[in-house]
Amino acid sequence: MYTKIAIIGGTGMGQLLGSGKIKCVNTPYGPASIHEMSVDGKEILFVDRHHLEPKHEGDSVIFRLPHQLNHKAYMYALHNAGVEFVIAASAVGGINGPNDINGLRVGSIVMPEDFVDLSGGPYTFAREGGLVHEEAFHRSPVDMLCSKLRSLVEHHVDCPRGILSCVKGPRYETPAEVRVLRDQYHANFLGMTTAVPEVVLAREASMHYFLFGTVTNMPLEGPPADGADVKKAIKQAQDRLIKIINPLIHILANAAPEFKCQCISSPSVFELCK
Ligand SMILES: [Zn+2]
Repeated sequence: MYTKIAIIGGTGMGQLLGSGKIKCVNTPYGPASIHEMSVDGKEILFVDRHHLEPKHEGDSVIFRLPHQLNHKAYMYALHNAGVEFVIAASAVGGINGPNDINGLRVGSIVMPEDFVDLSGGPYTFAREGGLVHEEAFHRSPVDMLCSKLRSLVEHHVDCPRGILSCVKGPRYETPAEVRVLRDQYHANFLGMTTAVPEVVLAREASMHYFLFGTVTNMPLEGPPADGADVKKAIKQAQDRLIKIINPLIHILANAAPEFKCQCISSPSVFELCK
């Protein structure tokens, strides 16, 4: 199956997008579960990032926490399948104030424009040890979250800019840590080790990548929201997200082969290191 579009999301998102079948792919970095799906007649790939299909029939699906994700396996699998565009979705915490961004609340849909990686990384396809082509890892860190893709949907989201911080997880940040992320790193969105490793690897694999964040908590604003309210807000946001993503799939499926933007300016690591 050839498709140039992949969506990476969380639990339940695949079923909302459409129907398909799961393929277990072996990569040099380990196994990955890739869903081949049809969305309104367009073929796409979907990764449910926290779930890995078992090797043996009858075994349970493996659930992985953010710090346990095998980003290299599923990003390699997408690259190897010929994917050019990666649309990711992830839950984030929200912080009003930095970068003159206000009005964030539980349920807001956002699109970060840049990130601060505090996860401890590194995440790279460049070989550990041995020689690699210098250009393979000395890549521009500008426009990591593809601005051309973001511009196609920015009018549909609550906040099309802002800074995403990435910490290892899986626990939430303490109030003291959130204040440091706000005051020293000017972070608007709090994420764990999910989207940032993906975008770094996507850049090395020459795939356009951007992220829809759904705000699921506002750690500095009063007591934690009631669990039922949060669930309802997330469900509403997810329904909205699907309505944004579906037309985007059609736009990208019909995009000219020469779709170009400044985020991809050199061949992939795999081409350079052949
Ligand atoms: Zn791009």
